[in-house]
Amino acid sequence: MTTKLPADRRAALTRRVGELMPEVRRDLEALTRIPSVSLDSFDQTQVDRSADAVADLLRAEGLDVEVVREGGRPAVIGRLAAPDGAPTITLYAHHDVQPPGDGLGWESAPFEPTERDGRLYGRGAADDKAGVMAHVAALRAHDGRPPTGVNIFVEGEEEIGSDSLATILERHGHKLRADAIVLADSTNWDIGTPALTTTLRGMIRVVVTVSTLDHSVHSGMFGGPVPDALMALVRLLASLHDDDGGVAVQGLRGGEAAELDYSQERLRQESGLLDGVQTIGTGSLLSRQWTRPSITTIGIDAPSVDTASNTLVPSARAKVSMRIAPDEDPHTAYQALLNHLSRHTPWGAKIDVHLDDEGAGFQADAQGPMYDEVRAAFEDAWEGTKPVDIGVGGSIPFVAAFAEQFPQAAIFVTGVEDPDTRAHGANESLHLGEFERVCLAEALLLERLGRMKPRKVLHSQARSDTLRGPRDE
Ligand SMILES: [Zn+2]
Repeated sequence: MTTKLPADRRAALTRRVGELMPEVRRDLEALTRIPSVSLDSFDQTQVDRSADAVADLLRAEGLDVEVVREGGRPAVIGRLAAPDGAPTITLYAHHDVQPPGDGLGWESAPFEPTERDGRLYGRGAADDKAGVMAHVAALRAHDGRPPTGVNIFVEGEEEIGSDSLATILERHGHKLRADAIVLADSTNWDIGTPALTTTLRGMIRVVVTVSTLDHSVHSGMFGGPVPDALMALVRLLASLHDDDGGVAVQGLRGGEAAELDYSQERLRQESGLLDGVQTIGTGSLLSRQWTRPSITTIGIDAPSVDTASNTLVPSARAKVSMRIAPDEDPHTAYQALLNHLSRHTPWGAKIDVHLDDEGAGFQADAQGPMYDEVRAAFEDAWEGTKPVDIGVGGSIPFVAAFAEQFPQAAIFVTGVEDPDTRAHGANESLHLGEFERVCLAEALLLERLGRMKPRKVLHSQARSDTLRGPRDE
């Protein structure tokens, strides 16, 4: 059961969002032209510029705005008080972007937004400046007077790991307290099918160094009885998977993904898997991507082929990235990986493991009156197509941070992306038709939550907390 939304009100919001799209798009293009790459080696005055531009957009909608910085990149906080008795919603997006890459492969300049075939191309045109503009569009659709309280939080360092987010939430979290939180930085299932992201995998990243000698020696004189570190490292890395390519580390959790139709063909096409190359692991494709662990070696330091000499390498290292199940405890997973690595290091080689990064996954309860409202808003915006619950195999540290800081709030992970968005890659783009639906869904969501009875809001708060603690009903 959801709140009643009169058909004429729904039609009015739909029309209003349609009228607003040209100006929303202009503002999105202006944001996209700012190369706000948060990575250290890029000009950080551009990240300041994009924070100021976002602050201006929010101020123009009548919000109380401040730009905050707690040792990292600038974040923007905007607030609009709730009408009497209405719930408050916090809306999240980020204004920083990934580097454009080496510039190769882009069909138009990364920071010059360009439309082709109904898609707007540009770095950040989707991830996540379209998320910022979806929030602004929802406010505009309500002419700056939404029926709920609204807090907007636009982060400036999501693409480099949200290092100061914990401090920001500690010092400013009281300004973001809400009954529901919309985190618009994920993806929809397909063009024409909206999605709520209800699980995310966590992550452990380690640097493994293997040593066998205290200096390099002639490979002809000593090769034979003396093992080199690179071979020891390669054997150690090979032990992380069984012959089918499944993860061989014992003691890790793994669950089943929701039943959605996802074919080998679609996976091959979306990932660019070469003809004849097999998929690895066992279980449904989606459980392998969303709810089971995976391990990837993402880098190796060893002598390069061009400069290699005939010597036994004394020491070599690799960076290993492990994705863990949404409900896995990162510390337990790290211990399991550590145990595996020390047990499988061959020939008594010395091993050093450095924990480079870790992050918890996320699993939403996703039930209760507030989730009913968000699903109804999506269904209306997509003209009758219900949203599907999806997982995402990647890790989004801020989702776990928000879930921990606001255990009482219902958390909706939404987004503007689709399978062709290529966030982080060359030719990142936004599907403009779907973007309008995202904006409308958010405007409808504010309308629906504003019509909820306070009693229902309170009830749904208790429901959204069931995963994290005992239910107190
Ligand atoms: Zn993003």
